[in-house]
Amino acid sequence: MAFLDFPFDENLPSFFGHKEVLRYLNCYADNFQLKQHIKFKTRVVKVKAKHVVDGLWGTKWIVEVQSSDDLSATTEKREFDAVIVCNGHFVEPNIPEYEGFNEFNGLKIHGRDYRHADKFKDKTILTVGGSLSGWDITLDVASVAKHIYLSYWKEHKVTNFPQNVELVTGVNKFTENGVVLTDGRELTVDAVILNTGYKHSFPFLSPDCGIEITKDNTVRPLYKHTIAIRNPSLSFMCLFNRVLPFICMSLQAKFIKAILEEKLKLPPEEEMIQAEEAELQKVLDRGWPQRYLHRLVEFQSEYFDDLTNHMQVERLPPWVLNLAFFNITCLLKDLEAAKMLNYEVIEPDSFKTTIYSTI
Ligand SMILES: Cc1cc2nc3c(=O)[nH]c(=O)nc-3n(C[C@H](O)[C@H](O)[C@H](O)COP(=O)(O)OP(=O)(O)OC[C@H]3O[C@@H](n4cnc5c(N)ncnc54)[C@H](O)[C@@H]3O)c2cc1C
Repeated sequence: MAFLDFPFDENLPSFFGHKEVLRYLNCYADNFQLKQHIKFKTRVVKVKAKHVVDGLWGTKWIVEVQSSDDLSATTEKREFDAVIVCNGHFVEPNIPEYEGFNEFNGLKIHGRDYRHADKFKDKTILTVGGSLSGWDITLDVASVAKHIYLSYWKEHKVTNFPQNVELVTGVNKFTENGVVLTDGRELTVDAVILNTGYKHSFPFLSPDCGIEITKDNTVRPLYKHTIAIRNPSLSFMCLFNRVLPFICMSLQAKFIKAILEEKLKLPPEEEMIQAEEAELQKVLDRGWPQRYLHRLVEFQSEYFDDLTNHMQVERLPPWVLNLAFFNITCLLKDLEAAKMLNYEVIEPDSFKTTIYSTI
């Protein structure tokens, strides 16, 4: 998951925590002297298109910013040639609408607000959602909770969990003390943790930016999930679910740069719209719903190859995705055991696996 031009500290195990990720990103920024180009503690409040003859593709961007320390501070307007939106998409929780949700008396939180297992000690917990956050949080809570029900949809594959985790069907409605499942079973629980995903959100983009978040949480119209088709000097980073984020971001960054520098020519607008339609058709042909438009999983290599072909740069070394897919297979078999694996890349196209030990 490291950027290919800056490996992780080789003394770290392959699975490490958020503190080490932060340290890695800081080291990356220091190494490439990026911090001098970043305006920290500054919130983007509004981004508005200004149509002018001398702008890139006829547009300049008026960006209103404010100190993030003081939300009552006056805003300041700046003009930019291009805007790249990287505000993250694991921020705005997706909370499904359940009958009786407000009547439930126990604690209910979204996975975004989960920090420690402590408060779930000896409790009976329902975790909702069988995707990656659901796995991780269920596993963490399982170390202290009395019993955990993990409610998931059949479309998700699930891994092996400790003995106090019981897999159950979807939630039909909430009651005062728990839930009624879609198979009619009633559960009494102390707390519910919703690992039900996130919604895209760009509260600072004005409507004239030409971007819409659809009802099913896709961002459109975009060329290669990145470039705003109606205003190509506006672009978006890594809107995907289930990708290798840093690798994806570094390829998209190069792609956006090549387009802004006009080293890479964009097709006419109509052609880009058709390309997006074709992307959507591919998703539907896989039997996936439309809301999976920005989901890649095993189709990452296709997307990455498409970008590198377009830019005529070297493809990713084969070990990257081989290792990623091997790792997913291990995680699916046994989440806890998989996190004890250590991977070592043996250039140019293979990797070695050992069991991580602190001894
Ligand atoms: C529980 C969880 C576990 C994960 N585990 C892994 C993992 O093991 N490996 C992995 O590779 N990835 C993992 N990911 C995914 C990874 O965290 C994301 O892919 C990555 O953080 C995305 O980076 P980003 O820069 O796009 O967004 P973010 O990291 O969310 O950064 C967005 C930044 O934009 C800032 N921002 C937002 N709005 C504004 C505004 N209006 N003005 C100014 N600044 C703004 C935010 O403050 C933030 O600093 C995980 C994610 C979650 C939620």
